[in-house]
Amino acid sequence: MIVLRVAIAVPVFTLFDYLPPQGIGQKDLRPGMRARVPFGRGERTALIFEVATEARHSPTRLKRVSQLIDPEPILRAGDLELLRWTAEYYQHPIGEVVANALPVRLRQGKPLSALQAAVWCLTASGRAQPPSELTRAPRQARLLRLLQNADTPLSQERIYRQFGPCLALLRRLEARGWLDRGGLDPAVADVFAGAQAPAPQLNREQRAAVERVTASLDRFRAHLLEGVTGSGKTEVYLALIEAVVARGCQALVLVPEIGLTPQLMQRFQRRLAVPLALLHSGLGEVERAAAWNRARLGVAGVVIGTRSSLFTPLPNLGLVVVDEEHDLSFKQQDGVRYSARDLAVYRAQRSRCPVVLGSATPSFESLKNAAEGRYLALHLSRRAGGAQAPRVELMDIRSVKLDAGVSPRLAGMVGEELAAGNQVLLFLNRRGYAPVFTCHDCGWLAQCQRCDARMTVHQSSQRLDCHHCGASRTLPLRCPECGGESLLRLGQGTERLEAMLRERFPQYGVVRIDRDATRRRGSLGARLEEIKSGKYSLLLGTQMLAKGHHFPGVTLVGVLDLDQGLFGADYRSTERMAQLLVQVAGRAGRADKPGRVQVQTRHPDHPLLQTLLRAGYGEFARAGLLERRAVQLPPYSFQALLRAEAHRAEAAIGFLDDATAAATAVGCDAVTLWGPVPAPMERRAGRYRYQLLLQAAQRRTLQDLLAQWVPVLARLTSARRVRWSIDVDPQEQY
Ligand code: ADP
Ligand code: ZN
Ligand code: ZN
Repeated sequence: MIVLRVAIAVPVFTLFDYLPPQGIGQKDLRPGMRARVPFGRGERTALIFEVATEARHSPTRLKRVSQLIDPEPILRAGDLELLRWTAEYYQHPIGEVVANALPVRLRQGKPLSALQAAVWCLTASGRAQPPSELTRAPRQARLLRLLQNADTPLSQERIYRQFGPCLALLRRLEARGWLDRGGLDPAVADVFAGAQAPAPQLNREQRAAVERVTASLDRFRAHLLEGVTGSGKTEVYLALIEAVVARGCQALVLVPEIGLTPQLMQRFQRRLAVPLALLHSGLGEVERAAAWNRARLGVAGVVIGTRSSLFTPLPNLGLVVVDEEHDLSFKQQDGVRYSARDLAVYRAQRSRCPVVLGSATPSFESLKNAAEGRYLALHLSRRAGGAQAPRVELMDIRSVKLDAGVSPRLAGMVGEELAAGNQVLLFLNRRGYAPVFTCHDCGWLAQCQRCDARMTVHQSSQRLDCHHCGASRTLPLRCPECGGESLLRLGQGTERLEAMLRERFPQYGVVRIDRDATRRRGSLGARLEEIKSGKYSLLLGTQMLAKGHHFPGVTLVGVLDLDQGLFGADYRSTERMAQLLVQVAGRAGRADKPGRVQVQTRHPDHPLLQTLLRAGYGEFARAGLLERRAVQLPPYSFQALLRAEAHRAEAAIGFLDDATAAATAVGCDAVTLWGPVPAPMERRAGRYRYQLLLQAAQRRTLQDLLAQWVPVLARLTSARRVRWSIDVDPQEQY
């Protein structure tokens, strides 16, 4: 008897047993294949994890798989192991972990063969045909020109995105003998003319870092590459990738969401002479699945992508790199709440290869691991190419009158730099025009009706938006309470700052980078290119502007409001504030034009700020780690957060009370439970949110409790009245 144990994307923690499809024998059934299975009233895509010889339930009750999708496994044993481990560690249903890891097309059950047919390439005569001769068919001419101008054959998806749907037109060009469909293996469709740019001669520290890592290319070793911004970390990654690729292995490079700019991609493309799989947000679903498949087949030598690329199957994995490892975007904050950074270390260990975590501002977790010798610490202490580190100064703004958040002194400095022909960057981590809208006559405040939060004024759209639930309404002209017309916009957002700068410095180009200004796909990349080309003198934005990009023309950086970060509710807020400040500061300056950074604050004597500025991030982190150890907070302890939300507060509290009782029943002496307590924002999108915090001195103790406890939670009656989730190693407290 044969039983297939499969994962299905439903919130159930176990695998499901099925009988094999009619007429298919054991030798044709292997773990890692997908199948269609009857489920409930419909059918689902399932992934086979085990081919077993006995059922866990009575075999008469088992249903039969309707159809195998893949003739061969699409995932290997090691890939399945990674998924299983993720599900267990993060206490998440295995089927949802699988769904999270697979490209959408494969999750939907599309066969791999469907990914191959969508590339169009020019034939020799198509390449020779001048589009200008097609005067009677202007659309054909335009399409032909598009194809001729591209460096590579284009996928149908990409053509559609640039041209609009045009299948009939493509077929007509094909009929004229100018186009071939899928004539080229899409495996090479993304290979640009690589290796055009020469590598710089590495400096001593870079060479030392490369040598330390290459000394252990055939075994697991975790490295923390701590190097100030612009110190040449990327060059170290590139040298390591070259070494790994030369051995016939593959490299996996994880980058933060925001840093994944065309520039970084192009840099890798220009330097590496191997096929790359670039998993960026501009890809269509077919392209994404095709890139995934190239990696799986070993055709792509390097995979570069954000968080979810961690799960890309790589048969010859030889190196894992996590750039900006401290970045919060490596932790998924909903669904499967995994940390791609932490899983990267696990994956390297399983694959017996080195992993390099790089950052100018490493997370406290990684610094502790390096201090204790678990990670090998590598340092790049100076900026490459001779540029100096920027000078950072605090600007006391107590009792100073600000204009759109800018002090007169800072405004004066901005004017001087602009007059000298330099670029200036102003950083304000709040989008919109003003965070408060209130009535001068009666004190009415624009509150979100579904959240414990105020609504933000957006001047250009004339709307009030809630940044927490997305609620939006038109900006009232009169107070809804008293009908008065003296409505005030209080506080500063990037939109107001932009308006002030345009008015005050009308002769200079101003550009704003935040989520509102870059909503359209590709517009962030376009703006960044324009900044590089010198089109703008004044750059302003939120933390989007702080990460990953380098603006060598910038000589002055102004941080308008740092104080929010000093007194945040989360114990990690000072760590984040320091990381942000160092990252913002690192955006600026080059050899001949060093940058300086002015930080406006009302707490210039704050001890942590003082340590950060006088002694640098390393000292700051050491002081911070001592504090954490004194109060036994992570990384000196391990946490999990059980969150619950419901339309009635009692339902959420009741569930968490039952959960507490269940933990006691399981037995949890070595794990401390705190709560239930309301989340920092108690009501959001109309739901009341409560949480229970678990903490233990040992990771193992916490994991042991979770393994017994979470399945019990799923069966509680009170669980049916709430939305609940478990977050292992939570990064945010709300
Ligand atoms: P990071 O990744 O640490 O921010 P990058 O690798 O992007 O630093 O390097 C910053 C700049 O310095 C880049 O323009 C890079 O080309 C240049 N650079 C890096 N290493 C060297 C080197 N050894 N010699 C000359 N220029 C270098
Ligand atoms: Zn009023
Ligand atoms: Zn809201």
